[in-house]
Amino acid sequence: MMSPFSPHSLLIFSILIFSPSSYVSFDLDFSPSLTYSQDYGKIIEESPVSVLRPTSPTDISLLLKSISTDPAQNNVTVAARGAAHSTYGQAQAPGGIVIDMTSLPNFIKVENGYVDAGGGALWVDVLKETLSYGLTPRTWTDYLYLTVGGTLSNAGVSGQAYRYGPQISNVLELDVVTGKGEQVTCSELVNSDLFYGVLGGLGQFGIITRARIILQHAPEMVKRVEIIYGDFDQFIKDQEFLISKGKVDYLEGFVNLQASTSTTTTELPNPYYTIELALYYNDTNLVQNTLDQLVLQLGSVRLSTTEFDVSFFEFLNRVKATVDELTQRGLWDIPHPWFNLFVPKAQIVRFKDLVIQSISSTYIGGPIIIYPILRHKWNLNMSVMLPEVYPKEDIVYIVSVLQWTTCERGSQCLETLLSQNKKVISIATSEPNTRPISINNPTRSDLSNDGGGMGAKQYLPYWTSEEEWGAHFGGKWDRFKDLKSRFDPLNVLAPGQRIFKRKP
Ligand code: FAD
Repeated sequence: MMSPFSPHSLLIFSILIFSPSSYVSFDLDFSPSLTYSQDYGKIIEESPVSVLRPTSPTDISLLLKSISTDPAQNNVTVAARGAAHSTYGQAQAPGGIVIDMTSLPNFIKVENGYVDAGGGALWVDVLKETLSYGLTPRTWTDYLYLTVGGTLSNAGVSGQAYRYGPQISNVLELDVVTGKGEQVTCSELVNSDLFYGVLGGLGQFGIITRARIILQHAPEMVKRVEIIYGDFDQFIKDQEFLISKGKVDYLEGFVNLQASTSTTTTELPNPYYTIELALYYNDTNLVQNTLDQLVLQLGSVRLSTTEFDVSFFEFLNRVKATVDELTQRGLWDIPHPWFNLFVPKAQIVRFKDLVIQSISSTYIGGPIIIYPILRHKWNLNMSVMLPEVYPKEDIVYIVSVLQWTTCERGSQCLETLLSQNKKVISIATSEPNTRPISINNPTRSDLSNDGGGMGAKQYLPYWTSEEEWGAHFGGKWDRFKDLKSRFDPLNVLAPGQRIFKRKP
């Protein structure tokens, strides 16, 4: 880690304090704790020189203006850090400045039909505040201890997404500080290029300091149902049936794979599959009736069905209990070699086979989530990438392989898992009927059937070369580069995404 008193850091410090363009009212912390070099992934660890704890968006604007106008700061980069639940250093700023977004006064103000929330506000706090008015955002992430700005820089998906789209489809307006330090309000009608660019834009064009999010009435209770399958085809068929009916308020699915270290045997097949659905309700009889009708229409080869009745808050905050348990077992603050992909429906069976074949021998735990979303609920003007192949298929699967490992950061055993993931990602993201394009260059024998790619796109993408990013953004790459040149021309923002190199 760079010493806080290295020549580099002293230079920035003196410029910010003494240069005429930078008589600023905020303090930079030149002894940042290790926390600011880390994230949830515990795979990449890169130290900033300093940390800004802004007290208002104006602090952020002054910092970015000072950096973009002062030649002496020509290599300084800046990363907004929300809850740092990234897994590959995306919120880190190697040798630069991290902005701790949680230190802003992250107001949450409920108005008629929407809520205004600070960019560093946690979704769990948005939920608590809106519920006090009997209201709620329509669409969520599974875990709520993430920031508004952090998830809107990606997409924000959970089991409500098939119905209301991702969180980025539920935003009416944003306040953004661009890479040049300009404070801009944007929406679909005003400064729309910036609005669409920032949503799913991986923090490349500006820092979100306020988001206006659509609300709806909140139910009191939720019936959560788990249905277990031994057969993947039936599991997929029933998921697609349930979303086509639009009668469930939430739908996800899980591949349950036995840990390679497991010594116990169960009666269930390995793997087995679980549909998790939820129906929101205020009337017990009505919801039971709806559920009974729905279940009657599902395939008959289900292994079991279990129901739980919980409060709406408990349902949305359900992952918290698992996190507490994993923390107690020492399985939370450890490396997470995760990957997430949007997989075309046409390729989902091949993809499931590929994942299972690739990870079974090393898998020790962590959810493997798989559920359908609907393309037409996404605004393709936004920066996030869905598969471009099979454009007529409305159904796309999101698959999240969220393994944990006891291998340490930097160890050979962690490298093995990461290169295993790279192979899967490479095959999945290559175009169908072509050889995989990138990392490790897997051979045809690595593929699960016809030797082609699958046309998938990474969600929470992690690529490291311009060629790979170009392939990721496909038809949107030129526009992405154009937005970058307009809103962050020196490539100051979000260096941890590894898309653009800082310009002097
Ligand atoms: P950070 O990791 O702090 O930042 C992510 C990126 O956004 C960085 O590049 C950062 O510089 C930039 N950024 C941060 N704040 C801002 C801002 N205000 N303005 C502009 N750029 C900003 N995702 C889902 O979609 N659905 C899920 O169900 C889900 N569950 C998760 C569960 C866990 C346990 C974890 C660890 C992650 C999960 N994620 C999920 C992924 C998560 O949405 C992303 O990692 C998201 O970036 C986390 O938000 P954050 O506040 O931690 O962002």
